[in-house]
Amino acid sequence: MEERAYGKINLTLDILRRREDGFHDLRMVMQSVDLFDEITLNKREGEGIELSCDVGYVPSDGSNIAARAAEAFFRELGIRGEGLSIAIRKTIPVSAGMAGGSSDGAAVLRALGRMYRPDLPAERLEAIAAQVGSDVPYCVRGGTALAEGRGEILTDLPPLPPCWFVLCKPGFPISTPELFSRVRVKQLQFHPDTAGMLRSLEAGDLEGICRRIYNVFEEILPRKYSRVLELKAALLDQGALAAAMTGTGPTVFGVFAGEEAARRAADVIGRVCGRVYVARPVKKYESLV
Ligand code: ATP
Repeated sequence: MEERAYGKINLTLDILRRREDGFHDLRMVMQSVDLFDEITLNKREGEGIELSCDVGYVPSDGSNIAARAAEAFFRELGIRGEGLSIAIRKTIPVSAGMAGGSSDGAAVLRALGRMYRPDLPAERLEAIAAQVGSDVPYCVRGGTALAEGRGEILTDLPPLPPCWFVLCKPGFPISTPELFSRVRVKQLQFHPDTAGMLRSLEAGDLEGICRRIYNVFEEILPRKYSRVLELKAALLDQGALAAAMTGTGPTVFGVFAGEEAARRAADVIGRVCGRVYVARPVKKYESLV
């Protein structure tokens, strides 16, 4: 069984409040992009989950999100004694703010759902996904969606109008806990206009969407990561309609109306940023099958 695991970007990322449990309530407009990992699942003799990944520094034991997802699936549905092998071919950059690991976990859940319980309601699969990680339910669903709470409360949104993305992944990671530890919600000066973003999506207005692309983490990014903001400026300089960091970074994306402009910008920025990708928006998984 083969399954694609698409990466995501944040068209908006807002932090609403710090919760009693120490986590933050978020409000994010998420978008899948056609940069994908390839996941192959096979039943095998014997018991337990075996995993391999073509990227050496991604864990290939039970701590891999894909293995944790399979374990959660079997546990929650009371399926015992299964032998399963999972092979992951990575294309989504790792620790990039593109939910690569969560998307691999979500792909495993979709594939196992088809293999073992094709009648399982989508909500049940998303509930299992929420136990694996807060971005995993969105990744099960994909497409354009509003994600609230820790990211697990989802509302489908109209798909983005046709456009192209240029994604630039700088060569350093940004620590997600470090970034969250810098958040003082009351001191944030800017918040994305999420309501305006939803209206623009409803109207299919790419220009309005682009005007509202914003990630609050950019405001509190430590100086040592100034490269992120330089790449954002470079994308805008190359004609992007909008540019922003995705998730907790460090990947920055720019939006272009046409392919030629996107490829030209990617060529130029590729000379100063090691990993540059051109990608398109992807619709909800359901609508792809
Ligand atoms: P997010 O956008 O959800 O914050 P990310 O894109 O920043 O995620 P990932 O690529 O998902 O980050 O990887 C985060 C960490 O998870 C890495 O340290 C990585 O080693 C680990 N990890 C576990 N499973 C996977 C997987 N299947 N693919 C990639 N990374 C994985």
